[in-house]
Amino acid sequence: VAKGAGKNQWRRYQAHLHNEMVERLELRSALDHAVNEGHFLLHYQPIVDLPSGTAVGFEALVRWHHPKRGVITPDQFIEVAEESGLILPMGRWVLEEALRTVAEWRRILPPGQAPYMSVNVSVRQFRESGFVDQVRTALAHTGVPPEALMLEITETLLVKDDERIWTDLGVLREMGIRIAIDDFGTGYSSLGYLRSRPIDVIKIDKTFIDDMVLGQQPMALVSGIVSLAQSLGLTVVAEGIEDATHREVLVRLGCPLGQGFLFSSPLGPTEVLAWMRSPQSIAV
Ligand code: C2E
Ligand code: MG
Ligand code: MG
Ligand code: MG
Repeated sequence: VAKGAGKNQWRRYQAHLHNEMVERLELRSALDHAVNEGHFLLHYQPIVDLPSGTAVGFEALVRWHHPKRGVITPDQFIEVAEESGLILPMGRWVLEEALRTVAEWRRILPPGQAPYMSVNVSVRQFRESGFVDQVRTALAHTGVPPEALMLEITETLLVKDDERIWTDLGVLREMGIRIAIDDFGTGYSSLGYLRSRPIDVIKIDKTFIDDMVLGQQPMALVSGIVSLAQSLGLTVVAEGIEDATHREVLVRLGCPLGQGFLFSSPLGPTEVLAWMRSPQSIAV
C-alpha cells in the first residue's frame, strides 16, 4: 500500500486480502471434499494429423463437477490443488481414468484408428516418490501398452531443473511411454535441454500460434521451433488452432500434429466415439 494512503484505503486493502484468503480456504476445503467424493470428470481433446485432420490421440483434461456451480475448468483450481497437495490423489485418479477410457476405445476402434492418451502431470506428482510405480501399475491394470501413453509436463515447471524429475522421466521413457513438454516456449530460456533430456514431443504454446498470423517474425519463430524439433528427432504438436489459416500455415511449415477448437473442443467420453466416426474427423 502506498505511503500516505488514507485509513479507509488501508482498511479496504486489508478487507480485500482477508476476502481473498477466505476464498482460497473455502476453495481448498471444497476441493478436498470433491477429491473424497470423486466429483471430477475428464474431457478429451483430439490431437490430429494436421494434413488429414485424423485423430491420432487425445489429451485428457480434468473438470470439477461442482454440485452447485456446475462444471469448473482447471485454471480455477489446479493452483490450489498443487499448493494443498490435493493434486496427488486427483492426479492419480486422472491417470487411471484416462487409461481406463483409452483402453475401452482401443478395444472398440479398429487397430489402425487406436488412439493414444496424453495426460497432464504436475511436477508435484513427480516429486511424490512412487510416481513411476503408480504409472506402471495403472498400465498393468488397464492393459494399455506404454506406447499408447504420453505424459505432458509444463515447461515452466521444469525450470528448477530438478534432477530427480529428469531421472524419473528417463525411466518412464525407457518403458516406452512418450514424454511431451507442454506450453513449449514459455519456460526455459535456453534450448539446450531439448538435446540432452528424455523428451519425445514438444507442444508449441497457443500464444505462438495466435501471433503467427500477425506477421513474418512470429511466423519465423514457429518455423524455427518446427525445424529445430525435426533436427532433434522430436515430434511437434501445435496447441490452440482456432481457424483454417492457422492450420494452413502450420501445414506449410511442416508441423505434423495439432489440436484446437478448429478440430474440436474437449469432448465428453461418449462424444469421442461419435466424433471419431463422424466425417469431420477425417476432413475438416
Ligand atoms: P494445457 O495442457 O496446455 O491444455 C490446453 C488448454 O487449452 C485446455 O484448457 C484446452 O481446453 C484449451 N484449448 C484447447 N484448444 C483451444 C483453442 O483452440 N483455443 C483456446 N482458447 N483454448 C483451447 P483447460 O482444459 O482449461 O486446461 C487448462 C490447463 O489445466 C491445461 O493446459 C493443463 O496445464 C491443466 N490441466 C488440465 N487437466 C489437468 C490434469 O489432469 N492434471 C494437471 N496437472 N493439469 C491439468
Ligand atoms: Mg497439456
Ligand atoms: Mg499446453
Ligand atoms: Mg496450459
